[in-house]
Amino acid sequence: MTAELDWKNLGFGYIKTPYRYVANFKNGEWSEGVVTGDDTVTVSECAGVLQYAQTVFEGLKAYRTADGRTVTFRPDLNAERMIESAKRLEMPPFPADKFLEAVDKVVAANADYVPPYGSGAALYLRPYMFGSSAVIGVKPAAEYQFRLFCTPVGPYFKGGAKPISVRVSEFDRAAPHGTGHVKAGLNYAMSLHAIVDAHNRGFDENLYLDPKTRTYVEETGGANFLFVTKDGKIVTPKSDSILPSITRRSLCYVAEKYLNLTVEHRPVRLDEVENFAECGLCGTAAVISPVGKINDRGREILFPSGMERMGKITQKLYDTLTGIQMGTVPAPEGWLREIK
Ligand SMILES: *Cc1c(COP(=O)(O)O)cnc(C)c1O
Repeated sequence: MTAELDWKNLGFGYIKTPYRYVANFKNGEWSEGVVTGDDTVTVSECAGVLQYAQTVFEGLKAYRTADGRTVTFRPDLNAERMIESAKRLEMPPFPADKFLEAVDKVVAANADYVPPYGSGAALYLRPYMFGSSAVIGVKPAAEYQFRLFCTPVGPYFKGGAKPISVRVSEFDRAAPHGTGHVKAGLNYAMSLHAIVDAHNRGFDENLYLDPKTRTYVEETGGANFLFVTKDGKIVTPKSDSILPSITRRSLCYVAEKYLNLTVEHRPVRLDEVENFAECGLCGTAAVISPVGKINDRGREILFPSGMERMGKITQKLYDTLTGIQMGTVPAPEGWLREIK
């Protein structure tokens, strides 16, 4: 039975669902995880996460395919990435097989909340872990909790994918040799001021430059850039402080293997962006959000694809990847994990 929600008009907000998965790390090992109805967390007032932000997270979606299967998209890559994030923050990695078990169990337990095929909605999964024991001197916590909950989210684009406007941010996101490449709440805490400021000035997103030279394009607060050249090549910025988006990596594979396009993963200078024909932002939430213009501290860069619709190649990439996800285009081996 599917829950009675107005799927098409759901936004991106937290809606409590019946079940979540919890495992604890104590005395040097992870406990057996359990599915529970308890949506609250009780920790010490001095927990590592509360004092020194020792927490990492992931984000992925479950949805129904055209032929009625319930699937998640490349969850093994989320499991791997969370291991890398945990290592960087001196947290005990949560094993990939247990991560996949948590994904499977939470989706199965909340099956009523997996939106119907064609609604554009999805069940968003949020795995995360945090230092749960008391820490006052600066050091890693001794105990940790891993949780995975889910919340239904609506179609990202209501009434068509309208291009957005992005500004080059005066604020920096991630230092060289810092934590930009890991999915940690700390990278988001420091981006909140920049995004509120961008919205107040009428922009949808921030384009962050490399903080060292402020000449190369990094990413936005939560999505990677993808550009299309006038001769139809795909270009994605390369930097050690960019979070390796699974969507962006999948789109580049699709570009090469399905659409026969050339893909370049290389440093991208801000001053070459005006030569590109199309621009999009890649992430789980939207797959690709088309970008119509970038404001570089007063100088407007208008992409030829305009402010009305996605660029042609961006649209092809979007259609092919969403087709793979929905089961209407054959998926590469291992990309869809079926939930039974
Ligand atoms: C999560 C995230 C992305 C998008 O990654 P996906 O795996 O495609 O969802 C991009 N940039 C940042 C900073 C992120 O945290």
